[in-house]
Amino acid sequence: MPIQTPIYLDYHATTPVDSRVLEAMLPYFFKKFGNASSKTHAFGWEAEAAVENARLQVASLLGAQKEEIYFTSGATESNNLAILGYARANRERRNHLLSCVSEHSAVLDPLRHLTEEGFEVSFLSIDSQGKINLEELQKNLRPETLLISLMGANNEIGSLHPLEDLGKIARQHGLAFHCDATQALGKIKIDVEKMGIDLLSLSGHKIYGPKGIGALYVRSKNPKINMSPVIFGGGHEGGLRSGTLNVPGIVGLGEACEIAQREMDSENIRLKSLRDMFWQQLQDKIEDVHLNGVLENRLTNNLNVRFDYVPVQQLMMEVRDLAFSAGATCTSVKAKPSHVLQALGLSKAEVEWSARFSLGRLTNEEEIAYATQRIKEGVDKIRTSSIEYEMAKEEL
Ligand code: PMP
Repeated sequence: MPIQTPIYLDYHATTPVDSRVLEAMLPYFFKKFGNASSKTHAFGWEAEAAVENARLQVASLLGAQKEEIYFTSGATESNNLAILGYARANRERRNHLLSCVSEHSAVLDPLRHLTEEGFEVSFLSIDSQGKINLEELQKNLRPETLLISLMGANNEIGSLHPLEDLGKIARQHGLAFHCDATQALGKIKIDVEKMGIDLLSLSGHKIYGPKGIGALYVRSKNPKINMSPVIFGGGHEGGLRSGTLNVPGIVGLGEACEIAQREMDSENIRLKSLRDMFWQQLQDKIEDVHLNGVLENRLTNNLNVRFDYVPVQQLMMEVRDLAFSAGATCTSVKAKPSHVLQALGLSKAEVEWSARFSLGRLTNEEEIAYATQRIKEGVDKIRTSSIEYEMAKEEL
């Protein structure tokens, strides 16, 4: 079969809605369109039942109770609610928050905002593998530390944080642990009990569900996590997140979680084998290519690499039939160089040469072989006309 282009290799940015998810959602746009808060008639009851079923599906993927799931518009909102809502509700007790330089802007920005409200915030560094140092973490804890916010998996280099260790440290010091699990969900096993997670953010469109829907897990006991709302109104979602529920979106998110739970193990094996094959082929065919970070302890679908003297923006122009990215999609919107790659210790030039490829449910071997060939052609073309590359080669 001829290969269909453009080829999508940007699953960290977003994923297509799984046809099974779409199928589950469709009735809730027209036939079953009720408002889940309408308590007085069958349309409302039907919508409410669907929402509660989805709540259970989401909770089940996290090892949580259904009452601990609050629907939001996505992970940006969940992160804002977790950080602002927890800090503001507990400001009388403690006023210090701890996070890491490699977090997503949807965590960094609300944290920075809190400094204007009198909170103090510290950021841990990462090493060349994208790892935090637990000793540095311990040293940065203060008696007044209220919350640590650390992601499950990084959206640029796919590196994983040691969630169980973090949960233990948080417990020992009586502070809350928020985890932005947007990229980790459906790819690594998450268990909020085993991992001691108190607040967890997730998003539908990263797990083959629809865009504009997400959830926040909030621990209800051992200990109960107190929160203040960020959005006020009709008192939906126990008063924590007002606004008419997005019933089709919620149904889709629930279905996406159920599929992820069922298929995670087999899909991880398939993706890892494709990703490793991709990396091998790139190294076999192209000179002077380097991996950013390390293969161990990394999402199975992530490959972040740099081709010496090949500005990624130029590469993207050369190979328009491949869809990949220069860094995080959100940072590329703001056209800023990746803060994560800089934190890894890469030079400004190395950051500019870096490309993020992320594979997913529709990726296959043929696409990987085609992508490698096209990248090789693009890299060769750019290097042929690069005086810097020629000079660097002559120096060797
Ligand atoms: N956190 C991480 C780690 C992400 O990758 C993203 C999406 N780029 C977000 C948060 C924001 O998610 P959403 O698009 O659902 O707002």
